[in-house]
Amino acid sequence: MEQHSRKKNRMPSDYRRQRERMVEEQLEGRITDEAVLAAMRGVHRHLFVPEALQVRAYEDHPLPIGYGQTISQPYIVALMTQLLEARPGMSILEIGTGSGYQAAVLAHMGLEVFTVERVRELYFATKELLLSLGLHTIRTRLADGTLGWEENAPFDRIIVTAGGPDIPVPLLEQLADPGIMVIPVGQTRREQRLVRVFRQDGKVTARALGNVAFVDLVGDHGW
Ligand code: SAH
Repeated sequence: MEQHSRKKNRMPSDYRRQRERMVEEQLEGRITDEAVLAAMRGVHRHLFVPEALQVRAYEDHPLPIGYGQTISQPYIVALMTQLLEARPGMSILEIGTGSGYQAAVLAHMGLEVFTVERVRELYFATKELLLSLGLHTIRTRLADGTLGWEENAPFDRIIVTAGGPDIPVPLLEQLADPGIMVIPVGQTRREQRLVRVFRQDGKVTARALGNVAFVDLVGDHGW
């Protein structure tokens, strides 16, 4: 009985150790950007997953967050963040707030974060969570993110954390020059290539990286 309750009420230091192990075993070596590693160490990932899954929050895979959505695997969060080549003070638009974890990682790195979610329940729950964690500089919006967030454009960086059939045109239009966007793009709904888009001196180039599997990007410019 006693042991049972001890297990349930994990001490914050347990999670700190788990975060440290997550960084050592899953990220170091593959992720080289120190600011990204610091953010992965600093953000309390277990607070962004459903309570029953908190003890699994630092494992090497995605987890369900309700409404058919998932929080990405730690490595994928770190990889996409590193690919953004972001610096403090830059503005970033995230499509697919979900749990709010990716947004918190970006805020930890000193970015000005704008994040859009289309599932009402997730939007409200995450907004509340972010405020309760003191992350009130993160701007949230309930909308179809494939249309971007025109009032705050252009964005130095854009990250899309759901997979669609193409790069939504409004997002390309709202990317600053110079600017970088990281987005999974799929031939099918099940599998996407991670694509990095650069805008520089008026020119847009895109480079495909490895395969990833994200939940669907739906909406006007999604599936
Ligand atoms: N970045 C999130 C990952 C969430 S999963 C995290 O760190 O937890 C992807 C999210 O994208 C889901 O919550 C889904 O509802 C959302 N989504 C899908 N299509 C969208 C759209 N057109 N606009 C905004 N959000 C969208």
